Amino acid sequence: MNAPLEEIERDISSVNFYRRKAKLIKSCCQKLVEDFGGEVPRTVEELTQLPGVGRKTANMVIGGAFGLPAMIVDRHVLRVSQRLGLTDKKDADKVEKELSEQVPKEDWRRFSLLLMNHGKNVCTARNPKCEECPLCDLCPSCTVKV
Ligand code: SF4
Repeated sequence: MNAPLEEIERDISSVNFYRRKAKLIKSCCQKLVEDFGGEVPRTVEELTQLPGVGRKTANMVIGGAFGLPAMIVDRHVLRVSQRLGLTDKKDADKVEKELSEQVPKEDWRRFSLLLMNHGKNVCTARNPKCEECPLCDLCPSCTVKV
């Protein structure tokens, strides 16, 4: 929290938008110390009070760092869940809510990681590999149905 902004910028200069991100890191650390006693909170509601933290990041922290139930909706999960007909919503927060209602809480984290992985490797944004997708029979968007 006391590190000079320039030092943080230098440390993360290889990432995109590092100046803006350095500012967010600094203000996020300040809020963590001032409002949360220096501890990273464990709820989406608290985490999203931190500068630069949206629901996706909050769920990643909860699921990844703490191993707690977390429905992580990134662009892959959004796309695959739409193609599979699990939601017709476009807004990630609404999709998170809809998926959370359909999947048992204990499976949220694993489910979202599976969809993420599927979206990166098979159900890609351009040219989804429907011919090798094991979900083709169930998927309303499959392009190789007979
Ligand atoms: S069948 Fe095609 S569109 Fe449906 S999930 Fe698989 S890759 Fe995606």
